[in-house]
Amino acid sequence: MMNVKDLIEKLNTQKSLTLEEYFFILDNYTEKDAEFAKKLAVQIRKSVYGNAIYIRGLIEVSNYCKNGCLYCGINRDNKSCTRYRLSMEEILSCCENGYKLGFRTFVMQGGEDNHFTDEFVCNVVKEIKARFPDCAVTLSLGERSYDSYKALYDAGADRYLLRHETADSEHYSMLHPSDLSLKTRIECLENLKSIGFQTGCGIMVGSPYQTNEHLAKDLKFIEEFDPQMCGIGPFLPHKDTVFADKEKGSFELTLFLLSLIRIMKPSILLPSTTALGTLREGGREMGIMAGANVIMPNLSPDTAKDKYMLYDNKLRTGLESVEGLEKLKQKFASIGYEIVTDRGDYKKQ
Ligand code: SAM
Repeated sequence: MMNVKDLIEKLNTQKSLTLEEYFFILDNYTEKDAEFAKKLAVQIRKSVYGNAIYIRGLIEVSNYCKNGCLYCGINRDNKSCTRYRLSMEEILSCCENGYKLGFRTFVMQGGEDNHFTDEFVCNVVKEIKARFPDCAVTLSLGERSYDSYKALYDAGADRYLLRHETADSEHYSMLHPSDLSLKTRIECLENLKSIGFQTGCGIMVGSPYQTNEHLAKDLKFIEEFDPQMCGIGPFLPHKDTVFADKEKGSFELTLFLLSLIRIMKPSILLPSTTALGTLREGGREMGIMAGANVIMPNLSPDTAKDKYMLYDNKLRTGLESVEGLEKLKQKFASIGYEIVTDRGDYKKQ
């Protein structure tokens, strides 16, 4: 007879479970099991990363997008979205502000904007690396060809985030238009990894039509793909999408998944997302206390922040100001964590 606590312990020792075992955990866990997983996750993270919490400066470079992802507020079909893209100088000025605040990783994230050619992105990456040689650059610009990813890597980009969104192809097709497929997404992730990027996959928790069978597949996919990073945040509806009336993802389930992923992959870089902080006040801190170890304050110019609306009521934290960051440092120090000025690379074990 299976038991959730025993399975969590098995995950801790073997770092692998069957699909059925993951499903059993998700379908049967109690608050007490989540508490157990949380304690274990924090202990494991401590053994790899000590008390360090890494910060990444998020720069939302463009909200132009050629894709029609059904859940996303900046999808190509949203005619009420006011579009913008940042220039090279604007991106560099975000990095300069961030550098002064202690950021040593910059994350360029945006819609799939045709303006962001290889040449343009490579030039931006090279310029960031030239001006801030002790910083890492993470890109999150969606699906591109192998050659494109290779060019970006050769230009100096260190990491790439591309959530797989769901490891079930039928579910994938319920979240995306027919020109997008799980197969292509996985090929992109495999290319990124083989090129040498620290690669991140991930999902939205509670995306429309998601079931525990899907989530079990996601956990198995993460186990086997073995990413260096994983972005896990709740789905939150956006008023101008076809999913406007869908339920939000569960806060508790997101925390539980963060804990399970930490237990499965002790070294993984695991952000506590803005979406989690939007769903509940103090959510990002609770994500850290469930096993996450990365926070991504927003360094984008204010005008961009207002327009990069993936979902309604996106959290504006003020963490990106000197005072805001100082407050956050104090808050974490009071619970035994240290926000560090460090690139915060993946630690191979
Ligand atoms: N275009 C790039 C890509 O597709 O990876 C990067 C930008 S995309 C907007 C970043 C992530 O935002 C997606 O992978 C998705 O999981 C998340 N996202 C989009 N809409 C969301 C929503 N309504 N709620 C929560 N997360 C959302």
